[in-house]
Amino acid sequence: MTRYSAFAIAKQAMRHHMGWDRAWASPSPKSHYDVVIVGAGGHGLATAYWLGRKHGITNVAVIEKGWLGGGNTGRNTTIIRSNYLQDPSAALYEKSRSLFETMSQDLNYNVMFSPRGVLMLAQTEHEKRGYLRTAHANMLQGVETRWIGPQEVKRICPIMNIDGPRYPVLGGLWQERAGTARHDAVAWGYARACSDMGMDIIEQCEVTGVTRDGDKVTGLSTTRGEIGCGKLGIVVAGHSGRLAEMAGFRLPVESVPLQALVSEPIKPCMDIVVMANTVHGYMSQSDKGEMVIGGGTDSFNGYHQRGSFHHIEETVRALVETFPMISRLKMLRHWGGIVDMTGDRSPILSKTPVGNCFINCGWGTGGFKATPGSGWAFAELMAKGHSPLTAEFGMERFREGRFIDESVAAGVAH
Ligand SMILES: Cc1cc2nc3c(=O)[nH]c(=O)nc-3n(C[C@H](O)[C@H](O)[C@H](O)COP(=O)(O)OP(=O)(O)OC[C@H]3O[C@@H](n4cnc5c(N)ncnc54)[C@H](O)[C@@H]3O)c2cc1C
Repeated sequence: MTRYSAFAIAKQAMRHHMGWDRAWASPSPKSHYDVVIVGAGGHGLATAYWLGRKHGITNVAVIEKGWLGGGNTGRNTTIIRSNYLQDPSAALYEKSRSLFETMSQDLNYNVMFSPRGVLMLAQTEHEKRGYLRTAHANMLQGVETRWIGPQEVKRICPIMNIDGPRYPVLGGLWQERAGTARHDAVAWGYARACSDMGMDIIEQCEVTGVTRDGDKVTGLSTTRGEIGCGKLGIVVAGHSGRLAEMAGFRLPVESVPLQALVSEPIKPCMDIVVMANTVHGYMSQSDKGEMVIGGGTDSFNGYHQRGSFHHIEETVRALVETFPMISRLKMLRHWGGIVDMTGDRSPILSKTPVGNCFINCGWGTGGFKATPGSGWAFAELMAKGHSPLTAEFGMERFREGRFIDESVAAGVAH
């Protein structure tokens, strides 16, 4: 595949841009692959990428029921950070954050990683104590992040009102090399690289059943026919419970809708990401000028991928005290995704009770930031049967009571 470069753009400009290759091929499924990944979101594609790039396994298919990146990968608010509390999480998310730093060069695809800094506000004494604890833990883990006081918060983000009557800003946890990336580009970049390695990305192909020989997976039934596989990776986020049921095991996850919205575009006014977890809202400004605003999950389980007005009202109302200027903005659009939540708010990267079948799920409201690291670690688990980064994230931890509790540290875990 032609490399993207300034020279290639100049050359194509002379030909009215008619000579570009398709970014990824659109093949029909073969009858058998060494590895099949279900779900062409960022995590599934990143897994396929690292299987090829690091482990030399390229007879791989990624099966997607819709269009690639059309699940949560294309619906999130793109926050990337790694200052989690527990050691296994910090290791995994920091690996991921560091991979984002070089992703555009690695994939030869501009994923617009913008390390603009992420600030998590403390607006209660309890929250302040929690973040100080995280800052100390991160120092021991080698994750760069620090506690800053209210005056520095105001300096970094002048549009903020730090003296709100109900929730004054007491300070914040500030990670300077955290930030955002263009979510679609992450999926497209991985897809292009996988296709270039000879892997098949098969869109519009829904998995409807999992075929087993005894306690081992042998293949899949899909809307485009039967596909055999040596190993199966299930990476379907909000649909994980359904795929697990097809394979014959149960997962400790719940699927709930999570929503976000954007305002009309305005001039640049905020060059960092702010998360206000007590009031439950977070905000950044996109390259187009829209204020990107995320809220909480629905309080009931569901599979609908759309927004709802009461949530928007709650989220915006919560943020207006700290950001009075947003009260004058009009909303442009809103949407939802289906996120898969575990009890300890940490992911599952695991072998399963079914032979040759692996599961990567439970990223809940915060898995975009983990995309490259998750793929890196899950590919290692699938190729070798173990990975240091996934060791603590097995699904047996729920039976053994070995939780990796991130629900307090992360609050809104984006
Ligand atoms: C509104 C919102 C805001 C968020 N904000 C952030 C944030 O700021 N930062 C952050 O880190 N995370 C955030 N997240 C979470 C993040 O988006 C997800 O954790 C992450 O994208 C999950 O990626 P994935 O590849 O596992 O899943 P997905 O991108 O959902 O991919 C799974 C794919 O599997 C496919 N699939 C499902 N069933 C089948 C089947 N039977 N056959 C074939 N294919 C199937 C789906 O169509 C889908 O494309 C947010 C999520 C939402 C919804």
